[in-house]
Amino acid sequence: MSNQQPDILLIYTGGTIGMVREYRSGVLRAFNFEKLLDQIPELQQLECQIHSVSLQKPIDSSNMDIPHWHEIAGLIASNYDAYDGFVVLHGSDTMSYTASALSFMLENLSKPVVLTGSQLPIGDLRTDAKENLITSVQMAALRENGRPLIQEVCLYFEFKLYRGNRTSKMNTEHFEAFDSPNYPALATSGVHLKVHREYLWKPAALKPLKLHTRLENRIGILKLFPGMNPDWVGNLLRSPGLKAVILETFGAGNAPTSPWLLQAFKEAVDSGLYLVNVTQCRGGSVLMGRYETSASLSDIPIIDGRDITTEAALAKLMYLLGEEVSHKSFKTIFETSLRGEMS
Ligand code: ASP
Repeated sequence: MSNQQPDILLIYTGGTIGMVREYRSGVLRAFNFEKLLDQIPELQQLECQIHSVSLQKPIDSSNMDIPHWHEIAGLIASNYDAYDGFVVLHGSDTMSYTASALSFMLENLSKPVVLTGSQLPIGDLRTDAKENLITSVQMAALRENGRPLIQEVCLYFEFKLYRGNRTSKMNTEHFEAFDSPNYPALATSGVHLKVHREYLWKPAALKPLKLHTRLENRIGILKLFPGMNPDWVGNLLRSPGLKAVILETFGAGNAPTSPWLLQAFKEAVDSGLYLVNVTQCRGGSVLMGRYETSASLSDIPIIDGRDITTEAALAKLMYLLGEEVSHKSFKTIFETSLRGEMS
């Protein structure tokens, strides 16, 4: 590859960004990705070399599954040495899940992986796809002292670059579809691209990329709500083979103090299930022990998810369980920030 200009690999996975609207019928269909440069000739003006590759079968991201993550992470790992940065075009629906999963699957990442997509198809007159794609490529091509400036998995949407595993999709209609309530934007795009260096992930040492592909999916999410049925909760926690459950709790990590519920949690944890406390609020952190309604959870003990998103907690559980982290150290490792996913 040329060493004058950065080489960027675009990985097309599907989603609205890669669709065109048929002029007469208005129906959205996937466009021929090979023709990307024809749709966005502006890409040729960027000071980098762009190459592209597509998933074998591009998908609506609502169909995203573990085999697709293997394919995307595999494409990055197998092309890692040949490229300076990666831009993954992805549907917005599950983009935060994929960004979180990739952040754990790609250990020792020292090059940018920027996920982006759009709310309107690339061929639409008012599309947000062009800006998102062009700026994502620019972000992925940023260099300093001969090294990529950004060295982590990010998500770029509507003028903001975020740490991918801190994001959630917040809006189905606004161009500003994502937010990162517990971690500031890494960069913003206005008249100038402004990188907030103090927030960038800095790998401790330059080590070879390590791809992790074993992801355990015997995991559940239990969103607490007033009026929960004890039988349903009991059956869920006793599901055969279940390894871990994310409890989406109220406020700063609070749960009802009903004896039946605390007993169900205690029995689950005693039987070897991992329970993780993540708040169902969009922003802020779990503070176990602040209220009586969370102190009892600490005693069980339940894993403290602090300010992690549900998407990142899910990916982290899949990764740590896949790596067969010992029972003794599981809680401590989960409560440690591995890829900047929690404060
Ligand atoms: N359903 C689409 C997807 O996630 C929506 C989008 O692309 O934004 O693939």
